[in-house]
Amino acid sequence: MSPNVALIGLGNMGTPMSRRLVDAGSSVRGYDLVPEARERLRDGGGTPADTAPEAAREATAVILMLPNSDVVDAVADELLEAGAIGEGTLVVDMSSSEPARTRVLAERLADAGVAFADAPVSGGVRGAERGSLTIMLGARDADRERAHALLAPLGRVVDCGDVGAGHAIKALNNLLSATHLWATSEAIEAGRRFGLDPEVMLSVFNGSSGKSGSTENKWPNFILPETFDSGFGLRLMLKDMRIATNLAAQVGMPSRLGEDAVDLWAEAAEGLASDADHTRVAEWIAARASPDGGQGAQVRDE
Ligand code: NAD
Repeated sequence: MSPNVALIGLGNMGTPMSRRLVDAGSSVRGYDLVPEARERLRDGGGTPADTAPEAAREATAVILMLPNSDVVDAVADELLEAGAIGEGTLVVDMSSSEPARTRVLAERLADAGVAFADAPVSGGVRGAERGSLTIMLGARDADRERAHALLAPLGRVVDCGDVGAGHAIKALNNLLSATHLWATSEAIEAGRRFGLDPEVMLSVFNGSSGKSGSTENKWPNFILPETFDSGFGLRLMLKDMRIATNLAAQVGMPSRLGEDAVDLWAEAAEGLASDADHTRVAEWIAARASPDGGQGAQVRDE
């Protein structure tokens, strides 16, 4: 039988994910702080609720797709205090959260009889629309099968280990992704100034060892066409990078390149709009490096 699902957080990712769940036969009730997001849920066949507890009350599974651990903890507290989740509910945090805090939250929920899994994703908005996300599942063995059944319509579920494992892998993946994107953007700008065609460079990189998600996806789809509309915010990327370098520090692994990457992205974040897409870093890198000292992204238009 298809589950009753509550989805809290109907942003760039939560909205297309809710549609996939509805299409797979789940009854989806959802909540977001933003009224327009709640209306989008209705358009997609789900039922908006006026509060998170109202969305969760009848649900057997509650999916969280929220900005960060602070918000996840606050929403989980609200659900617990309202008695909207309890014995038998499975809460799945699909946000990119902090693994150490995830483990604390899982224990707090377990005290109330609530099962928990972390299942962050990669694949972006397009992956969410197509149901082709990579889903990194961290769960106790007892909850694994249930989580797989719930998440199957959203993409490929990879068992990563116990609770917190999914969030750890996700953060490490994004540290790599952000580092690749920065390095690729510097290399392409250097080549462009030398007189090389960026499309030719990408074609060569993609057949060579310089290949990455940045050369195969981000540069051709969002940066070269100058649409900068991947749907993944720069500040969310920076949050994930910091989670990864903090994790490395916690386990005593020096992360020198990672720390440098965080500093560079933080500098770009200061120079770009608060809601800038993360692919805007490429434009920022090119502008900052301009011979006249770079006064911002518009320098590139000269
Ligand atoms: P988003 O900012 O578009 O959506 C987050 C939503 O949460 C917003 O609509 C916001 O209004 C809502 N929200 C915030 N506080 C809330 C609260 N207290 N109660 C209810 N709703 C609340 O972000 P997104 O891009 O959808 O990302 C969501 C999560 O997924 C983040 O953790 C992000 O790091 C991760 N992620 C995003 C992408 C991507 O490509 N966008 C890819 C992988 C993972």
